[in-house]
Amino acid sequence: MFSRILIANRGEIALRIIRAARELGVQSVVTYSAADKDAPYVKLADRAVCIGPPPANQSYLNIANIIAAAEIADVEAIHPGYGFLAENSHFAEVCRSCNIEFIGPSVEAMQRLGDKVQCKQLAVKHKVPTFPGSKGAIENEKEAIKIAREIGYPVIVKAAAGGGGRGMRVAHNDIALQSGLKSAKTEAEAAFANGTVYIEKFLERARHVEVQVVGDQQGNVVHLYERDCTMQRRHQKLIEEAPCPAIDDEVRNKLCSAAARLCKAAKYHSAGTVEFLLDDKTKKFYLLEVNTRVQVEHPVTEAITGVDIVKTQIKVAAGEELPFKQSDIKIKGHAIECRINAEDHTRNFAPQPGKLDQFIVPGGPGVRVETHCAAGYKIPPNYDSMIAKLITHAEDREQTINRMQRALREFDISPIATTIPLHQRLLNNSRFVRGNVDINFVERLLGQ
Ligand code: ADP
Repeated sequence: MFSRILIANRGEIALRIIRAARELGVQSVVTYSAADKDAPYVKLADRAVCIGPPPANQSYLNIANIIAAAEIADVEAIHPGYGFLAENSHFAEVCRSCNIEFIGPSVEAMQRLGDKVQCKQLAVKHKVPTFPGSKGAIENEKEAIKIAREIGYPVIVKAAAGGGGRGMRVAHNDIALQSGLKSAKTEAEAAFANGTVYIEKFLERARHVEVQVVGDQQGNVVHLYERDCTMQRRHQKLIEEAPCPAIDDEVRNKLCSAAARLCKAAKYHSAGTVEFLLDDKTKKFYLLEVNTRVQVEHPVTEAITGVDIVKTQIKVAAGEELPFKQSDIKIKGHAIECRINAEDHTRNFAPQPGKLDQFIVPGGPGVRVETHCAAGYKIPPNYDSMIAKLITHAEDREQTINRMQRALREFDISPIATTIPLHQRLLNNSRFVRGNVDINFVERLLGQ
């Protein structure tokens, strides 16, 4: 096992990694920007190193400063968390050339799966269902129109290097496709310095279902079942749950084994998530993409499987074999996570940075809170607005929803506006309670 690791991240995920490391007897060195200098979690690490001023591109995305911090602190490995550099294969490559273990998959696996066109080709080869669409990159308008007519409108143009919903355009006819192709390419070039785009069938009324996978460096890959993240707004997940309420065991087994098969084919180790869209009517699922990192919503999977995903990541990065086999993993009960953001959802989700005078968190049976905030903490304006994750776990979905309502009521945050009232409303909605939602449900409900 490592004796010391560096955490190249901030906020609740940095705290989550500090906790996992400490339980494994590993020292943690947290990096922080000047904006996070007084954040309470920074003091919990064994050591903290400032890596720059508040803007992320000068601190949390500054590879040279992070590597310098790792060398000064003499660590053996770096955990990138999620966001920032977590899916940057160049960063993983720099770590490798400096003899620092990157706590994540290999550079090659990241590249193989990070490019969506390559990932889709690998999926097709291994009989993982993908959307009908172009076999690879689209070269010109004529080709795009030909494919769109073959698969039928609506179609979606997507960037091979895409992320965060950028470089995507839905088209319902030839004219919209022509303009969508141009704008998607321009957006992708600006955002990812890679204008490669492809086309696939656009599925209306889909659910977002994703499979958690973990692998070791010995070649073992195990799935930890699926999460349903259909409750989203503008591609940002709001509520996640496990298991998915819309599938039976037969579909579940097909879905989860397809995900594990894809990761095995990519020689994947560490934690990863294979994302799919599910057609609720036919129960057919189609690959979206693979996220080569730990996800925000990993705690719902931890709740129903009992596996500590972050500890597993650290162990396999140190060369240990997975301590469980597929047959050891069983689903126990149901879990839901609400992402609590410092946003005013009544004013178009405007971020609410500022000081938290009151911050009282819920507790009791089956309640887990992941947060780096406390009373007196000042939410900096520089980063994303998630201030807490509230997770509840109970025997079945109904009891988990009731428990979530109970816990949300206990949360007492002021004077900052949060998304708690929105969560209360969503959890009360009869369509959500019946499990009858799709990825545009929240936007329709909010009239957006
Ligand atoms: P990104 O990496 O930018 O997040 P994804 O491929 O994960 O891109 O897609 C993001 C979102 O876009 C999905 O969650 C879904 O809402 C929508 N989407 C992507 N592809 C399709 C599709 N073929 N049909 C319907 N919606 C899609």
